[in-house]
Amino acid sequence: MRIVLLGAPGSGKGTQAKKLMADKNIPQVSTGDMLREAVAAGTRFGLKAKSVMEAGNLVPDDVVLGIISERLAQPDAQDGFILDGFPRTRQQALDLEELLDQMGTPLDAAVLMDVDFDILLKRLTGRRTCSLTGKLLNVYFSPQEELDACTSAGGELIQREDDNEETISNRLEVYRENTEPLIEFYRKRGKLTTVDADGTIDEVYERFAAAL
Ligand code: AMP
Repeated sequence: MRIVLLGAPGSGKGTQAKKLMADKNIPQVSTGDMLREAVAAGTRFGLKAKSVMEAGNLVPDDVVLGIISERLAQPDAQDGFILDGFPRTRQQALDLEELLDQMGTPLDAAVLMDVDFDILLKRLTGRRTCSLTGKLLNVYFSPQEELDACTSAGGELIQREDDNEETISNRLEVYRENTEPLIEFYRKRGKLTTVDADGTIDEVYERFAAAL
């Protein structure tokens, strides 16, 4: 299964991709995660990407294409993948199409995670990662026991650098301008499936899995 996950920041793409990966054994390929790793590793390229990401802007298309083509050539991606956060521009979508044509492995579907704007904001401003387990949590939506389990075990609830209010509003604007048009792009190619992504993680996952 080769799928693209579309949706605004905070629509739950990463969370749902991780669940699908665990369930169906298909790798989640997140350009955001790969870029954050490069930043954390302090590579020259990571240092360049850092300020772009902190402002909530997009890293150049050719850079992201380089990362993606390397990743999709790895053995674990040969039987399928879930693209999370890529493509984000029309150029990236065209590049992906060309890459998959060359590989002879066309995309099966583009799944849009559809969420109301006020829920997006709460998901983004409330999002935290447990420093001990890496578990994704949310101060508004996660059960209090799960939040407490992290802190009482000595963990910290860490907020992403780009999850502050100013950057969030820019990321949403960048999404509207650059990425939202991809909904039409995939609709025209007959690949678009929309999932109602309001609800608990399990509710959304049920709809997501049913849509595939
Ligand atoms: P994400 O974790 O998907 O929200 O991505 C975090 C940040 O990484 C974005 O705000 C961008 O700065 C950068 N990024 C991730 N994926 C892409 C992409 N496909 N194209 C350009 N920039 C990206």
